[in-house]
Amino acid sequence: MSRSASSRANRRGEPPPSPEPLARPAIDSHTHLDIVVGERPAHGAGDEGWPDEADVDAEIAAAVAVGVPRLVQVGVDVPSSRWSAALAERHPNVLAAVGVHPNEAGAGAADEAALAEIDRLAALPRVRAVGETGLDRFRTGPEGWSAQEASFRAHIRIAKRHGVALVIHDRDAHDEILRVLEDEGAPEHTVFHCFSGDVAFAKACVERGYVLSFAGTLTFGNAGYLRDAAALTPVEQLLVETDSPFLTPMPHRGRPNASRLVPLTVRALSEVLGVELEELCTALTANAERVFGSWEERT
Ligand SMILES: [Zn+2]
Repeated sequence: MSRSASSRANRRGEPPPSPEPLARPAIDSHTHLDIVVGERPAHGAGDEGWPDEADVDAEIAAAVAVGVPRLVQVGVDVPSSRWSAALAERHPNVLAAVGVHPNEAGAGAADEAALAEIDRLAALPRVRAVGETGLDRFRTGPEGWSAQEASFRAHIRIAKRHGVALVIHDRDAHDEILRVLEDEGAPEHTVFHCFSGDVAFAKACVERGYVLSFAGTLTFGNAGYLRDAAALTPVEQLLVETDSPFLTPMPHRGRPNASRLVPLTVRALSEVLGVELEELCTALTANAERVFGSWEERT
């Protein structure tokens, strides 16, 4: 079987069919196309198993077709960060974020050589964010916490050095993350990817000028606290994302996610906020361009 024939038949199966297109363009502020399209495990796959360009381009085209022409492809380790930067360089619909994921960092992956490579990649013109970085106190046990925090601090410094956004992964670590951001000084554009806090934490983030990016979790039946958090966030501090292939919105929860499912989350957000859909899409695009810069520009 050829690579392209086999790569979509991965063990996760096909993402669900595309929803009705949006009338105005929106964005996917956080996707892992290398995992959506390829056979790569989520983390630590090294340089093996990259998907075919044609398969990646087809998935991006499917997102464009439903009104999602701006994607941020996010690295989780050095190899996927290099791949993300290269994809953004060749594809006009994609910008990149580069970083070592907190769970990788907690296991010792954010060593000096890795951080030097993230720093080098962060200088590239189509790399507009550093991350995902942050703290994960769910998957990483106490023995990895100091390495994780050291990596988070290093990523904050790299983002500030290059004047790019910071993309934060926060799992069960809300207060610790605020503490580190306060201590280091947050970059101008700081994004909480897949925002997972309640009203009180959303308020704390909003007050500090951070941007909250909501994923498919917003549509889950048991996520009333997230909808309450979104409802109090000013529209100009909101982004949407898939974190695909994870966190698939309803009614497809449990199947693989893809950027072309963003309209489901945008529609849910529009209802939660009581903001008209087209107006919300315009605002989300403007926010994404303020945080990550223009997709059209090469520098
Ligand atoms: Zn992610």
